[in-house]
Amino acid sequence: MGYLFETEEHAAIRETARKFSQAHIAPHGAQWEEDEEFPAALYATAAKAGILGIGYPEQMGGQGGDLSHVIVACEEMILAGRSVGTVVGLGTHGIALPPIVRFGTPEQHTRFVVPCLTEGKISALGITEPGGGSDVAALTTRAVRDGDHYVVTGAKTFITSGTRADFVTTAVRTGGEGHGGISLLVIEKGTPGFEVSKKLKKTGWWASDTAELHFDGARVPVANRIGAESTAFPMIMMNFASERLFLAAQCVAIAELAYRESIQYARERNAFGKPLTGFQVTRHKLADMASRIAAARALTSEVVTRTVRGEMVAGQAAMAKNVATDMCSFVCDQAVQIHGGYGYMRETLVERLYRDARLYPIGGGTREIMNEVIAKTEGY
Ligand SMILES: Cc1cc2nc3c(=O)[nH]c(=O)nc-3n(C[C@H](O)[C@H](O)[C@H](O)COP(=O)(O)OP(=O)(O)OC[C@H]3O[C@@H](n4cnc5c(N)ncnc54)[C@H](O)[C@@H]3O)c2cc1C
Repeated sequence: MGYLFETEEHAAIRETARKFSQAHIAPHGAQWEEDEEFPAALYATAAKAGILGIGYPEQMGGQGGDLSHVIVACEEMILAGRSVGTVVGLGTHGIALPPIVRFGTPEQHTRFVVPCLTEGKISALGITEPGGGSDVAALTTRAVRDGDHYVVTGAKTFITSGTRADFVTTAVRTGGEGHGGISLLVIEKGTPGFEVSKKLKKTGWWASDTAELHFDGARVPVANRIGAESTAFPMIMMNFASERLFLAAQCVAIAELAYRESIQYARERNAFGKPLTGFQVTRHKLADMASRIAAARALTSEVVTRTVRGEMVAGQAAMAKNVATDMCSFVCDQAVQIHGGYGYMRETLVERLYRDARLYPIGGGTREIMNEVIAKTEGY
């Protein structure tokens, strides 16, 4: 069905993303999910194909466009590539780069943004800590100024692409307690005192790597700070609003894929002498899936359109994420049910999508925290 805002430009992006994913992800995606890793060379392949630059300014090596173009490309990559873990791993620049693009200096654009978009350098975003992720204002990783450097001590966890990132856009405490004391530092691989302490095993998103990071007196140049000292909290919140729309759109795409797989299976599988689609119960299941996907897509479409117009959408982005998350969990569960025993088997795509779907009420801010954001923006 697509999004209501789509134009010929979006159609061209869908085609580019589809061709890339059919050629470079679909043939290997299932194996990469089992291997819990895709080749790091895919970043460079995607950069050269112009995939990673979608939504970024041309002067920074991007393809131009906005959030609406990014989510359309992402949907097509999930539909055609059939490996959510690969798509989200390949897409971590979508959460690591925007604060640098918006608040970084031209020198930082050249050093960090351009190599990711044009060469496939790998970036990650480091906010969450072992002691807590929801309460960002309470983070404890400390950066103490020492001449032209900060000395960073602490840990981050659940960091997507963290095991092999060339740099991590990292939230650290440079000031006092609360949201007024937080800065963003770009911490580069190879910095003495910075190490990947663990690669984590997960329920879903297997092809993406997820890391625990450790900082033990890591010396990071002051030149790697994004914006003024201790002013990063609003940057992080702004970044969250667009991340939540990415995640809502991923839910729509995953559900769309599970729905398509279910229609095909229900047409081919026979029971009691007729295809599953011959039973009203199955047709109604599919109808409910289609309706909920359409509703989540419509809300996501509206909030993306408002974002592109420049409206403040923090509350609505949280609503879109919760609506899309609930929808995706429901649709993937129904997809497994329609597939019967095969739905529980590792060889079946919907089994994997069902596991992938479980991340969305947690990542990028939990379902409960989304309701806190909504309550705050609604004013009660
Ligand atoms: C696969 C995966 C990838 C991730 N990738 C990244 C990444 O790349 N970068 C990054 O920085 N982080 C990443 N995260 C972390 C993610 O954003 C956090 O897990 C999430 O924000 C929740 O934080 P937490 O896990 O510490 O849970 P907690 O904050 O400990 O919350 C635990 C439970 O308590 C509830 N809770 C907490 N506070 C409240 C409250 N005020 N009211 C009601 N309920 C509350 C939560 O909703 C949740 O149910 C990733 C997580 C996963 C699982």
